[in-house]
Amino acid sequence: MEIELNDLITDLQSLNQSLPDPSFRDAFLKIQSHVEHIADLVRSQPVRRTKVKDMSAEVVDNNPYSRLMALQRMGIVENYERIRDFSIAIVGIGGVGSVAAEMLTRCGIGRLLLYDYDKVELANMNRLFFRPDQAGMTKTDAALQTLSDINPDVVLESFTLNITTVDGFETFMSSLKNKSFRPDKQGSGVDLVLSCVDNYEARMAVNQACNELSQTWMESGVSEDAVSGHIQLLIPGETACFACAPPLVVASGIDERTLKREGVCAASLPTTMGVIAGLLVQNTLKFLLGFGQVSPYLGYNSLKDFFPTMQMKPNPQCSNAACLKRQGEYILAKPTRDAAAKAKLEAEGPLIEEGPLHDDNEWNISVVDDCEPDGANTKSSDALPEGLTHELPTADEFQNLVTREAPRNDNDDLDELRKQLEAINSA
Ligand SMILES: [Zn+2]
Repeated sequence: MEIELNDLITDLQSLNQSLPDPSFRDAFLKIQSHVEHIADLVRSQPVRRTKVKDMSAEVVDNNPYSRLMALQRMGIVENYERIRDFSIAIVGIGGVGSVAAEMLTRCGIGRLLLYDYDKVELANMNRLFFRPDQAGMTKTDAALQTLSDINPDVVLESFTLNITTVDGFETFMSSLKNKSFRPDKQGSGVDLVLSCVDNYEARMAVNQACNELSQTWMESGVSEDAVSGHIQLLIPGETACFACAPPLVVASGIDERTLKREGVCAASLPTTMGVIAGLLVQNTLKFLLGFGQVSPYLGYNSLKDFFPTMQMKPNPQCSNAACLKRQGEYILAKPTRDAAAKAKLEAEGPLIEEGPLHDDNEWNISVVDDCEPDGANTKSSDALPEGLTHELPTADEFQNLVTREAPRNDNDDLDELRKQLEAINSA
C-alpha cells in the first residue's frame, strides 16, 4: 500500500507541473498533502513479519530464532527445532498465564491453546502483557492479537469459556483430545497443560480432565498477598494429584466464593507473577526439550528469597477415582519401566569398574556399603524445609522404633531358654 501511495504522490506532482491553468495548482497541492498524510499513517502501522518455514541457526539480525538455536551449539539442548512439534494448553490467561503464553510464543512453540472467560480491565494494568487499549476485550481475543503479532509461526487456538461449567468442561476435554495438529501423537493432543488459574474449583476441573486423559500438567499459583507462589509437576499415577492432598478449603467442602469479603481484593505484583511464570515456562522447556531437571515442586517466598522444593507421592486413598485408576496402571507398568531404564543404562555403555585402591590386602579387610537397600534415599528426599514437621513418623523413625523394641524380645527368648535348661537339669 505504501508503494501505491508513493506512486500516487509522484503522479500528482507531475500532473501539477503540467497543468495549463495555474489556478488549479492550489487545489492540487491540497490533495497532494492529504495523500502524503495518509502515506505517513500507513508507514507508522506495525509491520507483521512473515512466517518462517524452517528454524535457522544463521546469525543474522533478521533471524528470529538465532539466539534460541544457539542453545544447541552451546550443548544445552540436543534439538531445539523440536519445539515446533509441541502443543501447550494454558488455562487462565491472567497475570501468570498471559506471561507464560508470551514466553512460549517467543520461544517458537508449535501450538498454544488458550482458555479464559474473563475480560481485560484497567485494574489488570499493574501486571505484565495486557495493554490499556485492550480493556474491554476478552482476555483470549486480546492475547491472540498480541501473540500473533509477536510470532506468526505459532498456531494459536483460543477458547472463551469457563472450564468449571458442564459445557465448558466438555469443550475443554474435546479440545485437549483433538490431534489435528499432530495426528501421530501418542496420548492426548497436547504435550502439557499449564494451570494458571486463581481458584481451587478451576484447579479441580483441570485435575479431573488430566487424570481422565492421563495427561501430565503443571500447576502454578501466587498467594493473595502477592509475595509468594509455587509451581508443581503432576503426572497422573506417578505423583500426587491435586485431590491427593487437597487444600483445607477443598477437603472441607467449603464454597471458596463465600470466603471472599466484599470490597476486599487480592493483591498482585508484576514481579512475583513474572517470577512464577518464568519458573513455570523454564520447567516446561526442560520437560519438552529434555534438558536439566524438572522440579516436582518449587515454591517461592519473595520476602526471604527462599525456594523450597519437595516431592509428593500419590495418595492410595485419594477421593478422585480417575487418580486411583492411574495409580494402579503406574504400579502395573513397573516391570516395563525397569526394563526400559536398564536398556537405557546399557545403551549408554558399560560402566568402568573401579579397581581396588590397594592391590595387597594383608588383613583381608573388606568395606561394606552402609547404604540400606530399602529407602536409601528417604532421608535426603524427606528433608523438610525450615519450619515444617512431619505429622506421622518417617520410615527411618519407624525402623528405629522397631530396633529399640528388639532387645526386649531377646530377653524374653533368654528367659525361655533358661527355663528350658532348668527343666532339663531337674529331670
Ligand atoms: Zn489423587
